[in-house]
Amino acid sequence: VLTLDSVDVSYGDHRVVKQVSLHLENGQVGCLLGPSGCGKSTLLRAIAGFESVTNGTIALHGKTVSSQSKQVPPELRNIGMVFQDIALFPHLTVAENIAFGIQSLGSERRLERVKELLQLVGLEHTSDRYPSSLSGGQQQRIALARALAPKPSLLLMDEPFSGLDATLKETLVPDIRRILVKENITAIVVTHDQLEAFAIADKVAVMNEGCLEQYSAPFELYHLPETRFVADFIGQGD
Ligand code: ATP
Ligand code: MG
Repeated sequence: VLTLDSVDVSYGDHRVVKQVSLHLENGQVGCLLGPSGCGKSTLLRAIAGFESVTNGTIALHGKTVSSQSKQVPPELRNIGMVFQDIALFPHLTVAENIAFGIQSLGSERRLERVKELLQLVGLEHTSDRYPSSLSGGQQQRIALARALAPKPSLLLMDEPFSGLDATLKETLVPDIRRILVKENITAIVVTHDQLEAFAIADKVAVMNEGCLEQYSAPFELYHLPETRFVADFIGQGD
């Protein structure tokens, strides 16, 4: 579904993402893991089309969407996004928030889709409530439902759990993984927390100062780290 080939992203002269290549299959959940400032959000924004690449290519479903000569705009990439600061619309109900991106559907079809998504995230009973009356974890589930409403072919999540307390994360992270797997959603999750990465992803890309150190399944990262950096970074949670 998604292929990055030698991708560079720069802000002016500052090269922030360097020569990153990776591939994600349909239905896989990938994770970008690394310390603060290593370029995770920048790479995610480049995949979404909000930053252009200064070298290399990004391809979605075999079609180049980013290169030095080509830049398909974000709204034409069929990508869903969930960010850290949840940003549900406070003046809209839960159901209206989820329906926001699918106005083009007929009202009957739209209601059906909202109901289906509320069931998926286990929050049917909150449909008429306002976001401020929900917990952080509930709001994050609604943000996920909203991102999934238009059936994006790729879902990008930037630190979606970072505002939540540890106990909540413990249940929410595996829950979200179950939802993604059940719906066969191809997704990339950004985090600096290795336990979170291991709990949610099929494949983890460990980044360090803009470079990809290793791209492997969690098991391999843990047992067969290829670089000193990976060994240290993965080891630090123990
Ligand atoms: P964090 O875990 O703290 O979110 P990150 O891995 O997501 O970090 P990025 O936000 O991608 O890191 O930032 C990578 C580097 O690019 C940092 O040095 C940052 O200061 C710089 N940077 C990020 N956004 C911009 C911007 N809009 N203009 C210039 N430099 C930027
Ligand atoms: Mg970031």
